[in-house]
Amino acid sequence: MNNMKSKKILILTGAGISAESGIDTFRAAGGLWENHRVEDVATPEGFAKDPKLVHRFYNLRRSALKTVKPNPAHIALAKLETSLKASGGQLTLVTQNVDDLHERGGAQDVIHMHGILTSMLCGICENRWEHIQDASTEMICPKCYVKGACRPDIVWFGEMPYAMHVIEERLAACDLFVSIGTSGAVYPAAGFVQMANACGKTTLELNLEHSQGSHFFDESRLGPAGTLVPQWVDEILGA
Ligand code: NAD
Repeated sequence: MNNMKSKKILILTGAGISAESGIDTFRAAGGLWENHRVEDVATPEGFAKDPKLVHRFYNLRRSALKTVKPNPAHIALAKLETSLKASGGQLTLVTQNVDDLHERGGAQDVIHMHGILTSMLCGICENRWEHIQDASTEMICPKCYVKGACRPDIVWFGEMPYAMHVIEERLAACDLFVSIGTSGAVYPAAGFVQMANACGKTTLELNLEHSQGSHFFDESRLGPAGTLVPQWVDEILGA
């Protein structure tokens, strides 16, 4: 497949791109997220039932960010972004990840469709603000001053991901859609490849193993992201 002349690329990343940095993926743990049931820690109902548990869960994930660093896959994508920009192209980097490793790897413009650990959201006024310390049920929103309604700025199951209109527009305008390190199990992200196919785009998957959506891609390359992604970026930039 010749994807090497692509100038407008949309990349979707998932937990697999951060695995070699030491952050566990989700499906690897048999449907549990760091030993918790998704219903308990990643749904609005779970938060309503036990907000202290949910804060504790995300506090641990947030503080664990200090112990990890970007790997060659994050760094290669930042290099691709810079090079495409300089040559009049465009990279739209959409991540399902709630870690900040793309940014720390040098990416300038990242769409966190499922939110990010380093931000909080007010359940009353929908204010979002950067917060890198532990959070608690005692927090007060800095905008509406309501106490007790502050939650992690994470899109939970059953909620609408961020920036869907921007993603759909960029998907319609790109030459190439690439999916990296995602199981293809969480919608709507899992459906991007079918949207790309419907618009006649070239599609490529880079993943450790075949995903649930592998058969939708023009090409699937299997292996660790830390190796495959820098190789593929070199191919694109060398073209
Ligand atoms: P997933 O855990 O469902 O799937 C991960 C995929 O990555 C699998 O297909 C696996 O084969 C692949 N993979 C594992 N190691 C890899 C490697 N070294 N190189 C390449 N691929 C590798 O992840 P998902 O599809 O992103 O969906 C899970 C949901 O859980 C997302 O919504 C995400 O927000 C959340 N989550 C985020 C993080 C994070 O921010 N780092 C971690 C766990 C879960």
